This record gives sequence, C-alpha cells and structure tokens, in this order.
Amino acid sequence: MSNYIHYIDNNAMKLADTAYEIGDYQCAYDNYTKTLNRLRNYTAHSVDLDSKANELAKKINELEPQLSSGKSILTFDDWILTKSSFVKGKQCVKYLFLDKHKKQEKTPISAAKQKIFNYGHAFEELVRKNEFPDGINIKDKIGNFAYFNSYTTYLLNIASTKIMYEASIIEEQVLVMCDILVKHENGDIHIYEIKLNSEVNEAIIADLAIQYTICKLRFGSALKSFNLILRTDDLNKQWKIQNLTDDVEKQMDAVKTTINEYKTILQQNEPNLAMGEQCNKPYECEFIDYCKKNR
Ligand code: SF4
Repeated sequence: MSNYIHYIDNNAMKLADTAYEIGDYQCAYDNYTKTLNRLRNYTAHSVDLDSKANELAKKINELEPQLSSGKSILTFDDWILTKSSFVKGKQCVKYLFLDKHKKQEKTPISAAKQKIFNYGHAFEELVRKNEFPDGINIKDKIGNFAYFNSYTTYLLNIASTKIMYEASIIEEQVLVMCDILVKHENGDIHIYEIKLNSEVNEAIIADLAIQYTICKLRFGSALKSFNLILRTDDLNKQWKIQNLTDDVEKQMDAVKTTINEYKTILQQNEPNLAMGEQCNKPYECEFIDYCKKNR
C-alpha cells in the first residue's frame, strides 16, 4: 500500500470514527464504506489488508440499522481563500494565483526548511502542553480539512468544550485555523497564535489580521482577545504572550477589501508580474523556479 493511500485511508477512518462517536452515523457509514471500497480495490493483497477489510465490513453492517437515528453534524465545506493564501497574496498576487491554480509547479520543500517547520511544530506542542493542556485537537480527530469547520462548530456548542487546537472557521469563503482557541463558561472566546519568532513584525500582523477578521465575523463580541505567543530565550518559560487585539482590529476594513480583491484575482488569468524584491520578502516564494523558467 503506498504511503499516500495509507494516509487518505487513515484520515477517512479518523473522520468515520469521530462521526460515529458523536452520532453522525451517515457520515461514519459513508467514510467507512469509502475506505472499504478503496481497500478492496488494492491490487496487492495481504493478511493485514484482508482482516482490515473484514473488520470494516462488520462495522458497516452494524451501522446500517442505526442510520435513521443519526444526526447530521459533520458537513463537507469548501472555501476560496485560506489564511496562508491571503499571506501569499500580500507578498505577491501572482504567488496567490499560482498557489491556487498551479500547485504542481511549486519547488519541493528543502530539508533545511522542513527542519524549521518541525522545530515550529515542536514549539507549538511545548506551549500547548504546558500553557493550554488537554485541548481537543481537531486535526487529530477529523483528518479531512473539509470537515474541520463543522466539527469546530459542533464542539463550540458543547458546554464542556474549553480548549481546542486547530479550531477552524470559515466565513466569507475564507478558512482560518487557530492554533489555540479557549472558550470560557460564560461564552467568552480567546484566541492564541504561536510563532517561532521572538518579536512581532509586519508579516505576522498581516497573518493575524486575516485570522482575526474571520474569527470576529464568526464570534462577534464574544471574541474577547486575540493573542500572539512568541519564543523567548528564558529557559524556565520559553514563550511570552502578547495581546494584539487592538492592532488587528484596526486592520479589519482593509482586510475585507483585500479578500474581495483576491477572490477576483483568482478568477482571472495568471497575473503578469516581473520578479523582484517581493520574491524573497518576507518569505522565500515557492514559485521562484517557475517564474525564472517563464521569465
Ligand atoms: S517568484 Fe516572485 S514574481 Fe513569481 S510568484 Fe513568487 S513572488 Fe511572485
């Protein structure tokens, strides 16, 4: 079984297991069935695959009589922009366009960059574990981005939900994911974004402004604070928390205008832009090789 197939099957299983756990039997049934059909289509057979297929077939049979008593909770949502594509657009609108329509032209990620990403993930884990323990990790529970938004909504409506990792919100066809979302008993919401940087800069504010705007559209006055968590050199506590609510609030109108501009750009032809300073500022663009080739 290829790693890719293994990955999509694992994600479909995660989604199906969570759907079953929360009583969305139709979603569980559909995803167990999808995985079973894929398993049966593999050309390579093994004892492991056969036993997994039998186990799934049994689950599907048991689910069938429960379908009519299930609730519809998890829905497949789509979006046009994400926080990451918005940040790319701020750097260069051609970058935004290529990232959406010509993903296959991206330069593969280097080992050095991957190392930084891994370090970033480890830092995120450290902060979550020590400052915001026992949160529900949406990514781990669902496995398919298209269902993150509806699962987040479901959890937010449960009184006992307090901390979520990767809470995902879609408004205005823009998807944003929050590193940490804390919901208090009175309904107040506080959001925290984690960065490996030690100081706030303009690129970070742009990144946070789109996220704040979408969260504010969803939560309105219940959104009480929007915070940035930065790295420090203090070995006792390697992070600090900075409240940036006022800074990002000021950017909301501009962000809404930019969202509309970017949606229009994505529907048009590839922008004709010359390479320049923007190709490495604030980040190294993933399409440098493509643009050089087509210069
Ligand atoms: S390489 Fe430069 S011009 Fe090309 S998409 Fe990236 S930032 Fe834009």
